Amino acid sequence: MKQRRQGFAHKHSLGQNFIEDEALLERLCELALVGGEDCMLEIGAGFGALTKPLARRAKSVLTLEIDRALLPILNVALEGSPNARVVCCDALRADLAALCAEAFGADAPLRVAANLPYYITTELISKLVRELPQAKSIAVMVQREVGDKLLSGPGEDGYGPLTLLCRYRYDVRRALDVPAACFTPPPKVDSSFMVLERREHPETPVRDEALLLRLLRGAFRMRRKTLANNLAACFSLDRADALRAMEAAGIGAQARAEELTLAQFAALSDALGDALG
Ligand code: SAM
Repeated sequence: MKQRRQGFAHKHSLGQNFIEDEALLERLCELALVGGEDCMLEIGAGFGALTKPLARRAKSVLTLEIDRALLPILNVALEGSPNARVVCCDALRADLAALCAEAFGADAPLRVAANLPYYITTELISKLVRELPQAKSIAVMVQREVGDKLLSGPGEDGYGPLTLLCRYRYDVRRALDVPAACFTPPPKVDSSFMVLERREHPETPVRDEALLLRLLRGAFRMRRKTLANNLAACFSLDRADALRAMEAAGIGAQARAEELTLAQFAALSDALGDALG
């Protein structure tokens, strides 16, 4: 669906559901924990409605926008925000760490805030968490059901690699429910503003974080298979070795990934590390 507004055709295919309510935008900035020393990465500038209040509160803002047609509008909208910079790119393909290092410097205090395009929410959150481990917080508007997924526990609907990946490093909370009517044009579903605040230390630290991430992806790969079979396939192990690693982590032979807690995955990651040498 396309809707004409201010001469701009909103592209449904790019998730262009914009927010215009200034009080809501200010509230989102507050919830995103933006401070005067923070460097902000925003994904999806749109008309710059969130970029502007972010720029007022933060030291510096880098916003990534895929739609070239928005650039002339953004140039005007951000005239009064000299500390905001727009890069026209596909955030999913971008080297986020390199873009942030270039815009802010290597050790800058980084936070992420975005009203995400919903067609790529899961992939983007996963990319943000994996590629920007230094981010102090990631505050994102998502479909309500993605919010549920991020908060779900073992055995519940939506529980999976994204839930666990986020939970490993962040405290996750639903900061605000936002009805569809708050967007232009309104999407078909209601939304939640989710705030992921980085813990000082992971709740259940592992020896090798890269291995844990590989494990989370591999464990849920084939939902019908048992964990032992998924592990064997993903790590090129004999089934017997996979079972031994599970036993060492105190996990039963018939276990399925969706039943395990983060602590169990952490134990399994360390046991696999031993098995793989
Ligand atoms: N921040 C604005 C607001 O709150 O009103 C716009 C939010 S709108 C939900 C999402 C924005 O992300 C759109 O401007 C869309 O063009 C942009 N977008 C969609 N896919 C993108 C991608 N892969 N990379 C960067 N931006 C993208």
